[in-house]
Amino acid sequence: MSDKSFIDKAKDTMEDVIDKAKDTMEDVTEKASDTMGKVTKFQKQSKLKAGYIERDEFKNSNFQKGFFCYNCIYWINMTGGKCMMVNDKGPDLFGNVSDVIAPHGCCSVYTPDFDEINKRKEVIVEDNK
Ligand code: SF4
Repeated sequence: MSDKSFIDKAKDTMEDVIDKAKDTMEDVTEKASDTMGKVTKFQKQSKLKAGYIERDEFKNSNFQKGFFCYNCIYWINMTGGKCMMVNDKGPDLFGNVSDVIAPHGCCSVYTPDFDEINKRKEVIVEDNK
């Protein structure tokens, strides 16, 4: 192979590699901006905007029954309660600030988690015969 054709082939290969790298970078940039767009669109609502309320009177209720954050599909059972849709900071409709989405709270975004609502609690019955 002559020096000239070797150099030409090397040039072609380099151009191919550069073209592929450009395509990959364009794909990565497009995916990153798409993801950023989705993240900025998905902002949690404030408690006020969601109409969130939390009443102490319901603290000792059976959370599997009734309209409670506990049995809402967006509730996360951690550090006192979090929500995927509503920010845990700030005042609720009554002006109370708890900094959690409590299991006994509720808001207008409530969506029932029927798996939780219909979950049977284990009942231990002793057979004293
Ligand atoms: S009822 Fe509202 S605040 Fe409570 S978990 Fe569901 S969406 Fe979040």
